[in-house]
Amino acid sequence: MTSVPGVFAAGDCVRGQSLVVWAIREGRTAAIGVDRFLMHGETVLQP
Ligand SMILES: Cc1cc2nc3c(=O)[nH]c(=O)nc-3n(C[C@H](O)[C@H](O)[C@H](O)COP(=O)(O)OP(=O)(O)OC[C@H]3O[C@@H](n4cnc5c(N)ncnc54)[C@H](O)[C@@H]3O)c2cc1C
Repeated sequence: MTSVPGVFAAGDCVRGQSLVVWAIREGRTAAIGVDRFLMHGETVLQP
């Protein structure tokens, strides 16, 4: 999550252009963060 509650970011827009594997990993991590945010701390998603 960014410093703005409820706004999530990942990949090139966070770290600048980099390797696609970083974008994928950060995207999955962001998805977990979104799920936890919406589900009040719980998630079944795996990193
Ligand atoms: C020419 C080139 C070659 C590369 N070659 C390699 C390589 O060989 N190996 C490697 O590991 N990495 C490579 N990369 C880097 C890799 O492609 C990126 O790091 C990765 O794609 C980043 O993923 P992302 O999801 O963060 O961003 P992106 O893949 O850029 O996805 C961002 C998405 O947001 C969309 N978008 C933008 N603005 C808006 C808006 N206002 N509303 C809605 N949607 C919007 C765009 O259309 C795009 O689909 C290369 C990059 C480039 C430019």
